[in-house]
Amino acid sequence: MNVEQCPRDECRGLFTVSLIGVDAPGGRESEPIDCPHCGVEVRSERTAGVFKTHTATAEQAAVWLKSQNST
Ligand SMILES: [Zn+2]
Repeated sequence: MNVEQCPRDECRGLFTVSLIGVDAPGGRESEPIDCPHCGVEVRSERTAGVFKTHTATAEQAAVWLKSQNST
């Protein structure tokens, strides 16, 4: 699971994104990815499904912080 960070300075919340309903009919559309912390759209991606965002767990946040420090 990829951890992403909200780009807003006021937020900087960590979250994960999962894709659901990939088999749903209707073709590819641009679906918004909203930060679960502040509710603001971080970006959008074309997909056949719908994106769901989740607040990152403490464990995921720790792994993410580690990867940030190593670069
Ligand atoms: Zn946010």
